[in-house]
Amino acid sequence: MSRPYEGARIDNAANPHHQWGYFHGPIPNNNPDYMPNSQRETVGGKKGRTPVKVAELQDETDIPDNPRVKLSKLNTYVCDVVVDGDDMCGKTFGQQPALRRHIRQKHPGAIDPVDDRSNLDDSESIPGNNALKLWIRSGGWRRAGYVHEPGRGSHKMNKMCDTIEAYAAANPEFAAQYGTKFHRDPVPVMSTPSKRRKSAATYNSDNDKSNKSKSPSPPDGSASKRPRVSSKVPDTDKSKVAAARKSSRVTKPIKKGKTTA
Ligand SMILES: [Zn+2]
Repeated sequence: MSRPYEGARIDNAANPHHQWGYFHGPIPNNNPDYMPNSQRETVGGKKGRTPVKVAELQDETDIPDNPRVKLSKLNTYVCDVVVDGDDMCGKTFGQQPALRRHIRQKHPGAIDPVDDRSNLDDSESIPGNNALKLWIRSGGWRRAGYVHEPGRGSHKMNKMCDTIEAYAAANPEFAAQYGTKFHRDPVPVMSTPSKRRKSAATYNSDNDKSNKSKSPSPPDGSASKRPRVSSKVPDTDKSKVAAARKSSRVTKPIKKGKTTA
């Protein structure tokens, strides 16, 4: 039986790759303050900020001080450029040109500007997919810090995590070694704080807070003693609100059971 997530080709998958560059983050921005001069000019009374073209970034008279890095055509579809400490950008895209356009506009000093429309070759996609598998398997994607929480991320990352979670569910030995959860899973966790590490845990605890403040579900039986409904609400509506609360209390554990199953 094949082992799609194990073996030397996964264990030794390189990121960045010596030929293809980065398949996933964290991707450094060696020139965070760089902006092509053409974008600094005043256009129609406003400062630049027209769509940054590849040619503007390729202008040899206007290159940034430090070398930009290469982003492989095989990547996460999530903007993995580091923007704040170790945290990456996190904007997510459905198409490669949209991701490249975003990077040119928002992180023009980070990635080598290329206008390469050629198809992705196996020689690039195979090491790229292996590197993504390793990143997901190690929990790197799950724990990565992002300024814009990508959640389940792009279609590609979502699908890869689905597949590896299904594989882990069917292979106890694999699960014992690598775990069973690989999605970032930004689903509110209602129970005690999980063992998840920093970024994912922070995100979830934030969600916990907002959830608690929105729906303070009193312990059963205490609702009649401590009415939480505003006195402006007519009596007839109070029971409706209470009923709605009750049903929301009932549905939550079901939801939770679903996600943990
Ligand atoms: Zn970005």
